[in-house]
Amino acid sequence: MSVLITGGAGYIGSHTVRYLQEAGRETVVYDNLSTGHREAVSGCPLIVGDIFDKELLIETMHKYNVQAVIHFAAFSLVGESMTSPGKYYHNNIAGTLSLLEAMRSAGVDKIVFSSTAATFGEPEYTPIDEKHPTVPTNVYGRTKLFMESMMRDYDHAYGIKSIALRYFNACGAHKSGEIGEDHHPESHLIPIIMQSVLGSRGPVTVFGDDYDTKDGTCIRDYIHVTDLAQAHVLALDRLLAGCASDVFNLGNGNGFSVLEIINAVQQVTGRSVRYSIGDRRDGDPAVLIAGSQKAREVLGWKPEYADINVILEDAWRWHSSHKNGFSV
Ligand code: UDP
Repeated sequence: MSVLITGGAGYIGSHTVRYLQEAGRETVVYDNLSTGHREAVSGCPLIVGDIFDKELLIETMHKYNVQAVIHFAAFSLVGESMTSPGKYYHNNIAGTLSLLEAMRSAGVDKIVFSSTAATFGEPEYTPIDEKHPTVPTNVYGRTKLFMESMMRDYDHAYGIKSIALRYFNACGAHKSGEIGEDHHPESHLIPIIMQSVLGSRGPVTVFGDDYDTKDGTCIRDYIHVTDLAQAHVLALDRLLAGCASDVFNLGNGNGFSVLEIINAVQQVTGRSVRYSIGDRRDGDPAVLIAGSQKAREVLGWKPEYADINVILEDAWRWHSSHKNGFSV
């Protein structure tokens, strides 16, 4: 019996594969390597295939006796989703449809998948719990919200059980420093600051300092990628135990402003961060903080690396030893 991880060569996917392996579970990674990295996968088969190749998916599920799927294979850049919506609707929605149909054919009826805080849109209140209205403000968030609806319909019609995990800001890296964040182009705050400190890019631009927050910069809930991985495994086990489909928010419940993150990186690295204040980035809500009580109570999720300094130390270990990501 094994777990199939689509997008398992990507950032959160590869950390979840590691977490599963460390727990002694059989894993198979399925990834087209369009944004993932071959080097991020070790200790299990890597099937280089496309989410639209239903036959290969079915063959893989049979060959490896797959009992459940964890689905990460999706595009996730908010800005790009606005300028190339078709790419996102095609890959994220039609790709998930292909996967669900393959699961149906192969008789696999459990799936844990990445959703996002972007399904909520502009917060009406914080912390944002699972009952918060979902009015996404970008195409990426809309595709993920639609994926959640697809999962509900496939449960209703065919009994495929699913758990959607809505992440806030994933960050950090595996303790070993062997795998970490490597996006091209990079758009996330923490890797951008670290790359700037390492001299592989120029000064950081802070996207706006006129928000209604304590220092005027945006506040986010930063959650360690290994803690996200832990939640995927708990969700998987919940489905394997026969529980119903569900949705959970994942964050630490603490907000840090962009300037606070810059200061914390200076503390952790002992180096100064060069930055300037720029315009606001389109579609950025001022504050996003997760209410993750449900995940703690129902899944038994206990984030181990909630301390922002630990998150940044782990990120720094990865970035400082992999200046060019996996292509060092
Ligand atoms: N941010 C920034 N400069 C950058 C990248 C990000 O000021 O070069 C800000 C961004 O506006 C947001 C926060 O950092 O408030 C986190 O952004 P990121 O892209 O990492 O994650 P998001 O919150 O968009 O999921």
